[in-house]
Amino acid sequence: MKVALFSTQAYDKDYFEQSNVNKIHSFTYFETSLDEFTTNLTLGFEAVCVFVNDRLNRKTIEQLHQNGIKIIALRCAGFNNVDLEAASEMNIKVVRVPSYSPNAVAEHAVALILTLNRKTHKAFNRVKENNFSLDRLMGFDLYEKTVGVIGTGKIGAIFCKIMLGFGCNVVAYDVQKSDELIKQGVRYSSLDDLLANSDIVSLHCPLIPQTLHILNRISLEKMKKGSMLINTSRGGLINTKDVIKELKRGHLGYLGIDVYEQEGDLFFKDLSESIIQDDDILRLMSFPNVLITAHQGFFTKEALTQISMTTLNNLTSFENGETLSNEVKNK
Ligand code: NAD
Repeated sequence: MKVALFSTQAYDKDYFEQSNVNKIHSFTYFETSLDEFTTNLTLGFEAVCVFVNDRLNRKTIEQLHQNGIKIIALRCAGFNNVDLEAASEMNIKVVRVPSYSPNAVAEHAVALILTLNRKTHKAFNRVKENNFSLDRLMGFDLYEKTVGVIGTGKIGAIFCKIMLGFGCNVVAYDVQKSDELIKQGVRYSSLDDLLANSDIVSLHCPLIPQTLHILNRISLEKMKKGSMLINTSRGGLINTKDVIKELKRGHLGYLGIDVYEQEGDLFFKDLSESIIQDDDILRLMSFPNVLITAHQGFFTKEALTQISMTTLNNLTSFENGETLSNEVKNK
């Protein structure tokens, strides 16, 4: 199939070309993102391949339909950026990569916790400047602390197991409980109970209408004073302005985020010589107890291999008229 890939980086090209050894599909790589202003690039293609910050709203999808696009292949797990209703109305299939390396994201959440807690990012810079003082680098033992996990699907489950390995008490909240995790020592509770008792809260649920701003003024206030909030899932799970208020008043002790609600204009770009217009991210960056990474949870060799291979298989199955096991259907 002739596939237009959007929001691509050099590593996307490397991995997609490696997976496409027999040249089953023809890939064209665009650095720009796909939205209603860039759909003219899709003329002459049968498929588009998009990532987390491409914006496939109704208008974009209508134009894709007019241009003859038959399938949207997401090279990620989340699909909150696609209007599924519009795609279904226009008979455009949507496929995704439901699981590529849940370990990659769970391990990145742990990296955020360890860095925020033990301040290794600050220690690294200090030592480089011949500053060997330990002043203000004090952390806390993770052992026997309570970790609250919101969403215990593929990534959340692995995160739970890692935290159990540190000797933490793991409390979880999910609309579906996992018997396997219960057997391993995870205790399910209400969201309020989890927030009130956790020293660390980590978000691993999808962004859907029910979870939009699940961490807001009211729920953030319910968190234990001085606790740590980690988000490697989707930015929209946290109300940014509310989290800034909680950091300012010292109620929230630490924030580690790999995703940000307005990340579409910032992440995956080198803006080092630009004037950043987003005042909220600048405020967040100014806190000493906030750590931000730019959506790199997925970014491991294993995950990129799996993403490109699954996307290729999704496209081949569509071309051959086979059942699409990774189809995202409008409910
Ligand atoms: P998954 O579908 O396996 O698990 C999601 C879990 O959330 C499920 O157990 C589900 O029951 C639960 N859930 C659904 N609605 C809920 C609600 N209202 N309250 C509480 N829990 C609810 O998904 P996954 O593979 O574990 O991925 C989780 C999320 O991680 C994805 O949706 C995606 O947004 C994010 N993600 C981020 C990166 C990254 O690079 N940072 C990479 C991949 C995925």
